[in-house]
Amino acid sequence: MGQIIDGKAVSAKVKEEIRLETEKLKEQGIEIGLAVVIVGDDPASQVYVRNKEKACETVGFNSFKYALPAETTEEELLNVVKELNEDKNVNGILVQLPLPKHIDEKTIINAIAPNKDVDAFHPVNVGKIMVGNYDFVPCTPAGVMELIKESGIDVSGKECVIVGRSNIVGKPQAMLLLHQNGTVTICHSKTKNLAEKTKNADILVAAVGIPNFIKGDMIKEGAVVIDVGINRLENKKLCGDVEFESAEKVAGAITPVPGGVGPMTIAMLMKNTVKAAILNKSK
Ligand code: NAD
Repeated sequence: MGQIIDGKAVSAKVKEEIRLETEKLKEQGIEIGLAVVIVGDDPASQVYVRNKEKACETVGFNSFKYALPAETTEEELLNVVKELNEDKNVNGILVQLPLPKHIDEKTIINAIAPNKDVDAFHPVNVGKIMVGNYDFVPCTPAGVMELIKESGIDVSGKECVIVGRSNIVGKPQAMLLLHQNGTVTICHSKTKNLAEKTKNADILVAAVGIPNFIKGDMIKEGAVVIDVGINRLENKKLCGDVEFESAEKVAGAITPVPGGVGPMTIAMLMKNTVKAAILNKSK
């Protein structure tokens, strides 16, 4: 049986470090503020936003919540973003996705000031990640890197296979692993002979969005398996993209769902927000 990578424990450790840093910054007169904007009443988004507010409280940030009705126009949302860009009490801005269909997500993301874009979705920040000179790291891939580091795994020279090529997980994950000298393969819905590729991985990251998609027989003996997937089954239970039962028998280390990558995402958001406060202060 492989080592279970405990995302809850690592996340708690990161948040405690942030709490102490926030305390020190307060002594220097620097308050940290995170604005979270939510449009509409999508239940999953409501839960995410509530969790972010709770995390702000835990680490000592000021949190500013903007809950806007589903009928909010793109122009109205842009005005809120513009106000937050100029607000000195706000260091980080997060617009919870997905947005209602009548609002163009790209337009909104592009309107967030890059130095307050703690989700790292703005093209300026995406470009910075590409060239390896970045301030903010996308939260979920950053959480994966933290779990790998905390588990004592050295990425350098390892075969890293990512299943999924989304802009928020797969692609930035590939860049972060590459920056640590991994040999990276990105697989996606059009990849042929997927199991052949995944079986080659020393580090396998699954970000597909299909429950139990990666089975034990697709994994190399002793591999590190990171499951980014969060899927809700009909019985309301959460499950990952990796079939845990068969995978844990083969893997050297594996993240569970829940309790793996999930708790790391918010911890990394908090980390980016501290960075934003320090960057904005020095300007
Ligand atoms: P997405 O739908 O944007 O991307 C899914 C990717 O999987 C695509 O690139 C697609 O090419 C690939 N794919 C689909 N079918 C495939 C197949 N048969 N074979 C190989 N590849 C295939 O999803 P996303 O936003 O990247 O999210 C992926 C999963 O991670 C979801 O379950 C999501 O809920 C979860 N997620 C978790 C967190 C977290 O905080 N832990 C954050 C973001 C996303």
